[in-house]
Amino acid sequence: MIPGLMQKKQFNVIDILQHAATWYGDVEVVTNSVEGGVHRIGYAKLYDRTSQLANALQRLGVNSGDRIGTMAWNTWRHLECWYGLSGIGAICHTLNPRLFPDQIEYIVNHAQNRFIFVDTSFISVIANVLDKLPTLEGLVVMTDKENMTDDMLKIGIPVYCYEELLEAETSDFVWPLLDEDTASSLCYTSGTTGNPKGVLYSHEFNLNHSMISAHGDVFDLSAKDSFLLIVPMFHANGWGLPLSVPMVGGKLVLPGPFMDGKSLYDFIKVEKCNKTCAVPTVMTILIDHLDSNNLQIPSMNEIYIGGSAVPQSMIEGFEVRYNVDVNHGWGMTETVVGTFNCHLPFMDELSFEERMKVRCKQGRPPFGMEMKIVDNEGNSLPHDGVAFGKLMVRGPRVIERYYKAKESALDKDGWFDTGDVSTIDKYGFMQITDRTKDIIKSGGEWISSVDIENTAVGHPEVQIAACLGVKHMKWEERPLLIVVKKEGCDPSKSSILDIISSEHAKWQLPDDVVFIDEMPLTATGKIDKKPLRTKYEDFLIEG
Ligand code: ADP
Repeated sequence: MIPGLMQKKQFNVIDILQHAATWYGDVEVVTNSVEGGVHRIGYAKLYDRTSQLANALQRLGVNSGDRIGTMAWNTWRHLECWYGLSGIGAICHTLNPRLFPDQIEYIVNHAQNRFIFVDTSFISVIANVLDKLPTLEGLVVMTDKENMTDDMLKIGIPVYCYEELLEAETSDFVWPLLDEDTASSLCYTSGTTGNPKGVLYSHEFNLNHSMISAHGDVFDLSAKDSFLLIVPMFHANGWGLPLSVPMVGGKLVLPGPFMDGKSLYDFIKVEKCNKTCAVPTVMTILIDHLDSNNLQIPSMNEIYIGGSAVPQSMIEGFEVRYNVDVNHGWGMTETVVGTFNCHLPFMDELSFEERMKVRCKQGRPPFGMEMKIVDNEGNSLPHDGVAFGKLMVRGPRVIERYYKAKESALDKDGWFDTGDVSTIDKYGFMQITDRTKDIIKSGGEWISSVDIENTAVGHPEVQIAACLGVKHMKWEERPLLIVVKKEGCDPSKSSILDIISSEHAKWQLPDDVVFIDEMPLTATGKIDKKPLRTKYEDFLIEG
């Protein structure tokens, strides 16, 4: 073997911010701040403050390998924590404030968090479980002195003010050179089945992921971007965007706690955002606001939606009414970005309707993500767009084992079972049929709950729909459709079933439609089928 003669470098996450500070120092991170008002800071200044934070962390006694929690909105301070914590070799553990108190307690104890950096909005979330968190030594409140109150200080453990900690430090800091296998961040899955599981990302993962996600057929990032990051930094490593946008010198626009339609629209308009991303339920808030106020978003080019299946009506709505491309992606905490939809040349020849069918698929894997579908015996299935099976992934951006787990999460050949069922077509477009546990098994046939839901929300008077397999005396399970009506609308059951029957075989039609006022959502804003199942599992038997 003749070795190559190029230099080697172990990249660390802080290198990204250092690059942004040096070459895009004036490019701004703009935040709708928790305290109120818009906050602006360039990457150069943000880097200086991150160095001050590193000094403050060392003064607090934070050591390399310590898991330090953050429970925060998307803000510039949260971004400083991401870089500062991983920069000194500690692990930035993003906590989702919307989890149930017992899940938060489980996660903080499992990760043995020593400190939590917390926004003022979430102090009570921690305070509620504080007496059950023995490893927690202190809280750092992410605000300035003026916004610290006496109540915060009386919480029962040491409480520090973020800005005061930074003010006491200089911006001289020599970052340690960490082996790129060192852990940099930790994110737990929301635990829809069993306890939440920790996914521990390395510096190498984060760098590899950032470079890949900048690609044209992923987030297509560049210094021309003004990216509104709606997806929370605590959801699946913030989809990698807090790292990949600064890597290319793009402007980051952070909505803080202001996630209503009007605030998002105003921010897009003023900051001339050309890209944004969120799960479908959150994107509904934006499109509903645009629809009902007759507004346009001319600066916006691309919207990236994932986390659950994006209905055709949403992709079509953004394209036809707002001239915005929706790029549908699939991923998991265990992979972050997994696949992305994209426009391939063959699609130029398709009719609008045919193209929409392709755009609804979850897409193709970028370089480094191996992907296959298998039957129950593990045999690979063809890429014909019809055969469906367990979706398996492999590669350097896929989990090897969960945090503190003794056993690998992979099969003997290194494949990770995603828990999703999907097809892959001849062009390589993967389409999720369902999560394994959501698929409806009716008399030996399988019905995709995702397909039924997507068709149902195409009804102009349906806000959101969930399809469940519920017990049936004869067929074992039958689909039941749960619907939230659009405000001021009153669709009939038969009109909803008519729309579904226009696209699905008769045996796939839901046996009934139930209207509810509010859809239960998970902590990451996806439909939560667990409480619906508990409530409606005997609905057809009783009926
Ligand atoms: P959580 O359980 O906290 O939501 P994840 O965000 O990691 O955790 O969830 C990953 C799962 O979300 C995937 O396994 C898949 O079932 C679902 N998912 C993600 N993106 C999509 C998508 N575009 N379409 C359908 N399902 C999706």
